[in-house]
Amino acid sequence: MGELGGFLKIDRSNVAYRDATERVGDFKEFVVQRPDEELAAQGARCMECGVPFCHNGCPLGNLIPDWNDLVYRERWQDAIKQLHATNNFPEFTGRLCPAPCEAACVLEIREGDAVTIKQIENSIINRAWDEGWVVAQPPAVETGRSAAVVGAGPAGMAAAQQLRRAGHRVVLFERDEAGGGLVRFGVPDFKIEKWLVERRLDQLREEGVEVRCGVDVGRDVTAEELRAEFDAVVLTIGSRVPRDLEVDGRELDGIHPAMDYLYVRNRAIAVELGPEPSTDAPAPREITAAGKHVIVIGGGDTGADCVGHSIREGALSVTQLELLPEPPSHRPDERTPWPLWPQKFRLSYAMEEATAIGKGEQDYSIVTTRFEGEDGRVTALHYAQAGAAPPFAPVEGTDGEMQADLVLLAMGFLHPEHEGVVEQLGVDLDQRGNIKAATYATSVKGVFAAGDARRGQSLIVWAINEGRQAARMADRFLHEITAADREPVFAGNVNDADDGPEGPPSHADGGLSAEEE
Ligand SMILES: Cc1cc2nc3c(=O)[nH]c(=O)nc-3n(C[C@H](O)[C@H](O)[C@H](O)COP(=O)(O)OP(=O)(O)OC[C@H]3O[C@@H](n4cnc5c(N)ncnc54)[C@H](O)[C@@H]3O)c2cc1C
Ligand code: SF4
Repeated sequence: MGELGGFLKIDRSNVAYRDATERVGDFKEFVVQRPDEELAAQGARCMECGVPFCHNGCPLGNLIPDWNDLVYRERWQDAIKQLHATNNFPEFTGRLCPAPCEAACVLEIREGDAVTIKQIENSIINRAWDEGWVVAQPPAVETGRSAAVVGAGPAGMAAAQQLRRAGHRVVLFERDEAGGGLVRFGVPDFKIEKWLVERRLDQLREEGVEVRCGVDVGRDVTAEELRAEFDAVVLTIGSRVPRDLEVDGRELDGIHPAMDYLYVRNRAIAVELGPEPSTDAPAPREITAAGKHVIVIGGGDTGADCVGHSIREGALSVTQLELLPEPPSHRPDERTPWPLWPQKFRLSYAMEEATAIGKGEQDYSIVTTRFEGEDGRVTALHYAQAGAAPPFAPVEGTDGEMQADLVLLAMGFLHPEHEGVVEQLGVDLDQRGNIKAATYATSVKGVFAAGDARRGQSLIVWAINEGRQAARMADRFLHEITAADREPVFAGNVNDADDGPEGPPSHADGGLSAEEE
């Protein structure tokens, strides 16, 4: 374990950020990495509890107390071995995970006192890359079996890596011009710089995964062609159908689903900062927040990323609206007691930035009632206070109006797209429209599903976990494929006479007998 009683002597160090007013001037990552010695001291705070609740809090089951202790003892190379044992891409989670492990840490019983697990995770993987300890791990033995993984988000990348390391031929199909899924085209560079994603894709390539970008499966390659070429298929296509807002004026120009805007911004930054995409990017669309009054509808991560981009682009003002009531500032023990994920108020990085430069505002319990426009373009948003409980209907007499030049709808995603590969394969869907695959195996033999496409819109840590689990199920299936399931290989001894109880050795068609040979 860490230092005996370490948590009594050493205070928690929170994640450090670059100053909000300074960081809005660029697209570089804003988290400041603490020195290794400081994080080793933070690792010493871990009590290595008999029942480590953090294990359960982490969807990947990361071996947190083990690597906390290894960092405390300055055994960084052993720490990355432990971390990679459960997590393919710790630099994604170390930067982007909301850290449910910390909410479940026993020290968090005293709110705000958890071991700073996420920072330690990030420093282990950063150090490992710097030291050259992260290398390709191609398989020692090829199985001769093959798998297609459709969708190169974190779930697809994890599934492809696991299947390849198990010795199968793996092709990772991606319809965008580069891999990474929402980590590449949703999450902004200031949360994760994209060369980090490309570096992992390079590792996959070095291990022997063929990454085919710019291929929309279901359109450029049919499901039938896929099934003919591969023994197994893993669907990791994400949950990309956005929830829409059905109010008057929705059709006006200047109102867009958040991802349309985020794709535009991420592509523009990629042109400026790289890395180069694997295939040509589509022609750029013009959606900009520069010089505009922007309203973001939806108070979650996606909405925050729209706010972060808008102020970096030079928006005049950004208002983020949320339908639900403002959560309490502290863990509500009657609703979400430790070790559950607390439903409490968290100031987003983006709102911190927007308020620091005097351009942002966030409102709760607001329902949008209609949009108003001129010459086909949105000019105003009409709203009312929302009722306290579902269906959060407008409260009479609370109407208001705000200026709106650009409206971004960040109200979540419904389910994966059904037209295309999902319909062509004919896999069953669950009640919410996600791919039904309770054990990662779908209703169609040899087809598996993972990530947001299976569980609905979620988190990167879950996507990686699901990619690993689906790969395990697909690997088991690939090993169980019997000769009968595969194309017969005709290599002699195919006549009936070979099938008797005495077995096939003598050639019915006059092949050489043992004596003759
Ligand atoms: C703006 C935004 C910010 C977020 N921020 C965070 C965060 O900070 N932390 C966090 O934990 N989570 C965050 N999330 C959620 C997280 O990104 C997702 O849960 C995660 O990326 C899901 O991974 P996935 O691989 O299942 O799907 P995706 O990342 O959506 O990847 C699916 C991939 O499949 C491809 N694809 C789809 N259909 C086809 C097809 N027919 N043929 C070929 N390819 C196809 C898509 O192009 C895409 O690349 C955020 C989400 C959004 C939208
Ligand atoms: S992946 Fe997330 S939940 Fe798991 S240890 Fe890392 S920060 Fe915690």
